Amino acid sequence: MDMKITWRLTLFSTFIVSVVILGMFFMLYENVKLSLMNSHRRHIIAVIRTYSRRGMFAGIRKIFLVVNGKVLSDPFSLTGKIPYKDGIYEYDGEYYIGVSLEVGDKKIFAASYVTTIVKGMQEVSHRLVLFAVAGIALSFFAAFTIANFSLSPLRRILRGIEGISASSLEKRLEVVGSGDELDTLAKEINRMLDRIERSYRAQERFVHDVSHELKNPLSSMKGFIGVLKKWGFDDEKIFHESTNEIEKSIDEMSSVVEELLMLSKEETTEEESVDVKSLVLEVLKDFHLRGSEREIEVEGEAVVRANPDYLKIIIRNLIDNALKYSEGRIWIKIKGCCLEVSDEGEGIPKEELDKIFDKFYRVDRSRDRRKGGHGIGLSLVKELAEKMKMRVEVESDLGKGSTFRVVWGEKS
Ligand code: ADP
Repeated sequence: MDMKITWRLTLFSTFIVSVVILGMFFMLYENVKLSLMNSHRRHIIAVIRTYSRRGMFAGIRKIFLVVNGKVLSDPFSLTGKIPYKDGIYEYDGEYYIGVSLEVGDKKIFAASYVTTIVKGMQEVSHRLVLFAVAGIALSFFAAFTIANFSLSPLRRILRGIEGISASSLEKRLEVVGSGDELDTLAKEINRMLDRIERSYRAQERFVHDVSHELKNPLSSMKGFIGVLKKWGFDDEKIFHESTNEIEKSIDEMSSVVEELLMLSKEETTEEESVDVKSLVLEVLKDFHLRGSEREIEVEGEAVVRANPDYLKIIIRNLIDNALKYSEGRIWIKIKGCCLEVSDEGEGIPKEELDKIFDKFYRVDRSRDRRKGGHGIGLSLVKELAEKMKMRVEVESDLGKGSTFRVVWGEKS
C-alpha cells in the first residue's frame, strides 16, 4: 500500500524538529562561548588596570603586553605574529584572545592564552552535534511511528473501498466508533454507498421491470403485425382493428416506461405552495380532452407545500383508477388535512388492501388487465407521496366503493 503521506508527514516533522534542535544547540554553544570569552576579557582588563594603577607593567609576566606600540611582555613569542586588535587568534596550533584598551594616555594591547577554553568548546560542539544527530534520528522514528499509526485507519478504509464493486455494493466500511475525522470519513463514505446502492438497485429494477412489462405489448404487436401482413392489404376492417391494437400497445408501452422511469428516480423534491383545487381541475381537463365523458364532483380547496408535478401524477392516477374500476359516481374532496378520491365501484377485498400499493400487484389480474392496468399506478402514488412526506390511505367496501386519501397533515 502506498505510504506517501506517511513519509511526507515523517520528513516534514523531522525537518521541523531538526531546525529546532540545531537552532537551540547553536544558540547555546554561541552563548556559552561568548560569555566565557567575555569573562576572560574582563579578567585581562582588570589585571591590566590594577597593574597600570600601580605603574607596574613590568610585573605582568603571563600576558602578551604591548604599551604604546612597545612589547613589554611576550611569554608566547607573539611579537608581530598577530594583529594588535580585539579578537581571537590562532597561532601555531594555540589560541589567544586579544584585548585593546586605553588607560590614561597609554594605548595598550594584551593577549592571553585561551587554547584550553577553545579546545573545551570544540569538544562541547562535537558532543552537541552527536546529541543533535541522535535527537533528529529519534524524532524521525517517532514521527514515522506516529504518522503510520495515525494513518492506519485510512489504510483500512482504502482496503475496504478496494473490496467494493458493482457486484458487492451491499458491503460497507467498518466504523470503529473512535469519533475522529477518519471515522466520520468512513461514515460519510458508507452514506454515499447507501445512495449509490439505492440508485443502482432502482436502475436494475427499472431495466428488469421494463423488459418484463414490455413483453406482453411487444408480443401482441408482433401478433397484429402478422395479421396485418396476411390479411391487412385486402380487408380494411382487419387493417383498422390491427393498427388500433398496435397503437394501444404503443400507448401502453410508453405509459409503462414513463411510470417506471418515475419510480426509479432518486431525486429529492423541490416543493412550492400548490393550489390543490386548480391542480385537480387541470387533471380533469386532461381527462376530458382525452375523451372521458364521466362527471367528477370536486368540493373544497387547500394550499399545500408540494411538488406540483408529483401531486399531479398522484391525483391523475387516483382519478384514473376510479374511472377504471367504477361505473357510478366519483367525487373528490379537498380538505385542510388531505385530498380524497371516492367512487362507488367494485371495491377491493380487505385482505388485498395492503398489497395494492406493491409494484405490479393487481387484485384480479384478468379483470384488471382488460381494464388496461399494469399494477404500477398505486406504487407510484405511494412513492411520490412519501417523497413529499405525505401518506396515502385507502378505505374500501367490496361491491360498494373505495376512498383513496392523500394526507399531508400539518404540511400546508
Ligand atoms: P393498475 O394500473 O392495475 O390500475 P394500480 O397500482 O393503480 O394498478 O392499482 C393496483 C390495483 O388496485 C388495481 O389493479 C385494482 O385491482 C386495485 N384498485 C386500485 N384503485 C381501485 C379502485 N378505485 N377501485 C377498485 N380497485 C382499485
